[in-house]
Amino acid sequence: MQVIQVAIAVPMPQLFDYKIHTPAAAGSAMSEVLQSDPLLVKADLGDTVNVDLIGCRVLVPFGPRKCVGIVVRVNVESDYETSKLKSVIEILDIAPVCSQQMLTLGKWMSDYYHHPIGEVLQTLLPAALRKQQSGKTRAAVATQPYLQLDADSAAQSDVDDLLARSVKQFDLYRLLEKGRQPLSAIKQEFTPAIVKALTEKQLIEKVDVVEKPEEWTTQLTISEKPLPNVEQAMAISTINLASGFDTMLIEGVTGSGKTEVYLQIIEPLLAAGKQVLILVPEIGLTPQTVGRFEKRFGIRVGTLHSNLNDTERLQVWQQAKDGSLGIIIGTRSSIFTEMKNPGMIIVDEEHDESFKQQDNLKYHARDIAVYRAKQLNIPLVLGSATPSLESLHNALEKKYRHILLPNRAGSAAMPAQRLMNIKGQPMQFGIAQGMLEKMQIQLAAGNQVMVFVNRRGYAPALLCHQCGHVEQCTRCDNPMTVHKSANNLQCHRCADIRALPKACAECGHNELDTFGIGTEQLQQGLETLFPDYSTVRVDSDTVRGKGKLSKLLKEINQKKYQILVGTQILSKGHHFPDVTLVVILNVDSALFSADFRAPEKLAQLITQLSGRAGRSDKVGEMWLQTHCPEHPLLQDLINNGFSDFARYALLERKHAALPPHEHQICIRSESQHKYLSIHFLNLCAELFTQFKHAKVLGPFPAFIEKKQGRYRNLLIIQSASRKYLQQATEQANKALSEMPVSRQVRWSIDVSPIDF
Ligand code: ADP
Ligand code: ZN
Repeated sequence: MQVIQVAIAVPMPQLFDYKIHTPAAAGSAMSEVLQSDPLLVKADLGDTVNVDLIGCRVLVPFGPRKCVGIVVRVNVESDYETSKLKSVIEILDIAPVCSQQMLTLGKWMSDYYHHPIGEVLQTLLPAALRKQQSGKTRAAVATQPYLQLDADSAAQSDVDDLLARSVKQFDLYRLLEKGRQPLSAIKQEFTPAIVKALTEKQLIEKVDVVEKPEEWTTQLTISEKPLPNVEQAMAISTINLASGFDTMLIEGVTGSGKTEVYLQIIEPLLAAGKQVLILVPEIGLTPQTVGRFEKRFGIRVGTLHSNLNDTERLQVWQQAKDGSLGIIIGTRSSIFTEMKNPGMIIVDEEHDESFKQQDNLKYHARDIAVYRAKQLNIPLVLGSATPSLESLHNALEKKYRHILLPNRAGSAAMPAQRLMNIKGQPMQFGIAQGMLEKMQIQLAAGNQVMVFVNRRGYAPALLCHQCGHVEQCTRCDNPMTVHKSANNLQCHRCADIRALPKACAECGHNELDTFGIGTEQLQQGLETLFPDYSTVRVDSDTVRGKGKLSKLLKEINQKKYQILVGTQILSKGHHFPDVTLVVILNVDSALFSADFRAPEKLAQLITQLSGRAGRSDKVGEMWLQTHCPEHPLLQDLINNGFSDFARYALLERKHAALPPHEHQICIRSESQHKYLSIHFLNLCAELFTQFKHAKVLGPFPAFIEKKQGRYRNLLIIQSASRKYLQQATEQANKALSEMPVSRQVRWSIDVSPIDF
């Protein structure tokens, strides 16, 4: 009997003590099982295993429920009487699913993000392992069904007789005589009826086998590659010289050949049998991206993204962990994949906001990447055409190595960037006459044109012409967006849907007008203005569903469409060789935002969008429609480019003592009662006033002030010292959790917030 400490995914910071029964002999029994056939998953290993309990999952009673927890410490002296402790119900793993390194990472994240350790550790594991598994199969590995000869079938001398009347059954039997086969392969040639018949005759059986994937190291080949240009060559040699932990920021303009640099820097690592983890933004993980890596190296690339089911995820996670994948490409949470032979971590488009998790545990995958690379003592490469000011600051401060790719690769030239003054101009569907003419010229020349607008749906509001009433979502106090194709009104905050009204809810008149322009309306408008060309809409409505975005991107590159209308999704790293004109509409409001990050975000958006133009032999240009052509931000960006803008923006942040020069945490609170939400934050503010080196700002209403019936407010705490802020927050967090009002509001701590 011993006492262990278990981390359980509940909103409480502590570990929980349990009793566990562990006779010494049991451990060896299990390793025998493992050694006899490591490929077979054996069920029913008994509850009395004592092999590497730390990092294994256990099923434990927790209040009235049963919970899956992770063993963090063993042989502990409990503060409680052993007789009062509850016993572990079941050990769920035959080997730890959480390595010592992941436990250390989890502990660090728990401290850094002020988040309960149980919830943190749960985040580190693939979803399939977080659930309570039913039945007795407890190995934390994904399996594949195989068919093999029944162990007793050799004894059946009359096999030939049994199979005489079915050629197909005979064929399958003979095939399995050569060795077991995956069921998926069998299915292509033999019907389920044949499999069933043989199974019933007890000649064959189904077994679950842990797939032992082909050895990627022997398959590795390097297919033809372009000769790097001078800047790329310098980048490649700098990175290849790095040994051990070293963070490098590649600041390379759009189309400068960053991906080509990634391909060439990982080549020697792969050749040495080392694995590489590549993080990409949510929407950037397309078959094109993966295809480039597979084609270059001739090996299968493991991918991790939101379209996988839990089993598929688990399989990739497992294969990375046991070393049977050379390259893993994934979105945010793939930063938690373990590698057997880690060689490098790459974060592509490192500025992308999808790397920050916005709910629950508000971690930033880029920050985790830095921690992990350090922990694994491997290089970390961050790449972007529009680096975050955080990373740029670190590079300029010489904390990161700074690698510049200022020119486009190959024969492509940078697109010209221009502003179109639309003050007083005649407009159609939100597009100025002069712009339509530019579009016509490009389309007539056989090129593609991309039009960006930052709103999906038909129009952002529905307005009564008689009384001015605007249809609002009552739960969010927010105008409802008109969706004509779905024939409804949608709240983009809470996803509430309502039928499109025929008359005004206030005055009953039926003269309802839409207000503003969204992607749907823009597409319809362009179809009437350019009837000879086909248009496509790329926004979250049209790319929803597995494979939709890839299909659209493929069709665009096959030139099925000439006019592309879309939102941010169009800006994400795509390679459109025939797009020669990018048109940007309606971004002026971002010039007047209260968010200090708005200029950075706008500059990133404009630069990334314009980077879709002229990526091949054709010359490209970007035109931005604006009522404020003289605005200094636009002038600087257009005339001097992002890198100049970013350095200036960093200086401005310095003068204003804003991040990344100072550090922030944000305490958010939500309640159905506005006063409660603010009252809680006022108490927080009071708590923080004792910390002399921290500034307290707020409470303020959140940018989205009301959502789903709850009022949202926030408080910012800022300090020049990250460490000081961390310690102050830790103390305040403890005090806050003990205040009764903290149980009356929903609240959370967001370290280094990027959104308000
Ligand atoms: P980025 O990742 O910076 O957007 P890519 O690596 O996708 O850039 O390169 C942009 C285009 O230029 C691609 O079509 C790529 O094949 C091509 N390219 C990259 N490097 C070279 C090179 N050294 N010589 C010729 N073409 C190149
Ligand atoms: Zn709503």
